[in-house]
Amino acid sequence: MKDNTRLTHTGRDPAVQYGMVNPPVYHASTVLFPTLAELQAAVAKPYDGVYYGRYGTPLHFRLEEALAGLEGAAGAVTTCSGLAAITVALMSVVETDCHLLVADNVYAPTRKLCDGLLAGLGVGTTYFDPLIDVDGLAALVEERTCALFLEAPGSLTFEMPDVPALAAAAHQRGLTVLLDNTWATPLYFRALDHGVDISIQAATKYIVGHADAMLGAVAGNADHYPKLRRTAIQMGYCAGPDDVYLGLRGLRTLALRLERHAANAATLCAWLGERAQVVRMLYPPLADDPGHALWKRDFTGASGLFGVLLQPCSQAALAALVDGLRWFGMGFSWGGYESLILPVNLASARTATTWDAPGPLLRIHAGLEDADDLITDLEQGFARMAAVG
Ligand SMILES: *Cc1c(COP(=O)(O)O)cnc(C)c1O
Repeated sequence: MKDNTRLTHTGRDPAVQYGMVNPPVYHASTVLFPTLAELQAAVAKPYDGVYYGRYGTPLHFRLEEALAGLEGAAGAVTTCSGLAAITVALMSVVETDCHLLVADNVYAPTRKLCDGLLAGLGVGTTYFDPLIDVDGLAALVEERTCALFLEAPGSLTFEMPDVPALAAAAHQRGLTVLLDNTWATPLYFRALDHGVDISIQAATKYIVGHADAMLGAVAGNADHYPKLRRTAIQMGYCAGPDDVYLGLRGLRTLALRLERHAANAATLCAWLGERAQVVRMLYPPLADDPGHALWKRDFTGASGLFGVLLQPCSQAALAALVDGLRWFGMGFSWGGYESLILPVNLASARTATTWDAPGPLLRIHAGLEDADDLITDLEQGFARMAAVG
């Protein structure tokens, strides 16, 4: 089964759905057991089949089966947000006094979790340059190091780590390898095939795809999936059934949407790259991006999120650019059908490396609009910016 067929047909079974195309949403806490024997059987095996609402409904299992298939994983667990998925993944691998190696370009709340809650539990974190080589990584491994956490590419600065090489070096030293795979989705990066043990997805972004739900997922290989499930249950992180439905629904059009997001991103990058106010674009699919060769080797496609490094300018000039945009919204998250623009503050975002670009960094999510309209909008923004000086 190829991916497009999988996206269309997995996670549903009309034969047991009264012929309806889509699985129903179950709103449930209590699951009733008709007999003492059935209750006792369920208590003995709470992860097999339905047990209690928090353990998941048949709809949750549908989405999890679809995601595990896409990731080539032994199993997947849905969570109430992408950050909850990161938390479940990390809580599954840490123990008291252990140590984590975390790439310096991770999603900021991942860093907050490591420096906050996990540090409080005695878990140490060393951040490292995401472009580190295997020897550099090996030198950072301590006796108590338990896991390596990567993001490819980083969702703010778009550096592309060498995932298979770093994963192999980590495995040699007995570490578990975790990757935040939100940018590419499992459709464009088969993380587990590249040595990752646990692939994390902020399904809030492309999988839901319509900016209307919070959802996360962790997919693990056979060594890690059972622990992921237990951890999510122990922490009480269950995804809401309506959000799971939106995730499953989003999956049906994921491939089509990503194609358009990537095409629009490529068009915008080509246009932006020519502006006098732009220093450079940050998008691994571009031939002159430093991460291009690795992206081309390991990924089968690109999504619509990229960075634009601007020449130094005043706050007023930056405001003139972004404030009057008609089609680009300003706000957090991405992966919905609409275009977004976000000035990024990297002041406290990294510790192992420095970000010394003098000008501001914008993060753009190319939505599904017509690219000509998006360019006209940006053109007017740059004209406003030039008028401010
Ligand atoms: C948004 C995001 C998350 C967190 O997802 P939420 O659903 O907002 O909690 C995690 N990782 C990356 C790369 C993200 O962009």
